[in-house]
Amino acid sequence: MIQIVRKASVAVPIVLQKKGQEATAALIARYEEGERNFKSKTDFDSTIYAHDDVKSSLLDVQGHKCCFCESKISHTSYGDVEHYRPKSAWVQHEEALNKPGYFWLSYDWNNLLLSCELCNQRYKKNYLK
Ligand SMILES: [Zn+2]
Repeated sequence: MIQIVRKASVAVPIVLQKKGQEATAALIARYEEGERNFKSKTDFDSTIYAHDDVKSSLLDVQGHKCCFCESKISHTSYGDVEHYRPKSAWVQHEEALNKPGYFWLSYDWNNLLLSCELCNQRYKKNYLK
């Protein structure tokens, strides 16, 4: 994993500041009403956290490299926006999924990284170590 320094010159994408904050407030409201089983595919809006502006900014701060294997993203895939702290559920070893995940960080700029599809979908998954 490469060290990633969030440059002050790269602003937090507007989509995260506006739609991301609204979506986070909606998730928190659902949690407060008792929701504990957020679904990765349906309860989180990839048009916000994986918006082209977010990917573009992440490419900039990561030097166009996957955060894990350091491959040039454009050489291997379009890139997945990866949640360092998993949004719907997490594991540290081989235990059952722990729920909920870090849903309140789903649209948080500091929780988002760009990885190649192979690293994110085959290796990282819901691991948080
Ligand atoms: Zn990778």
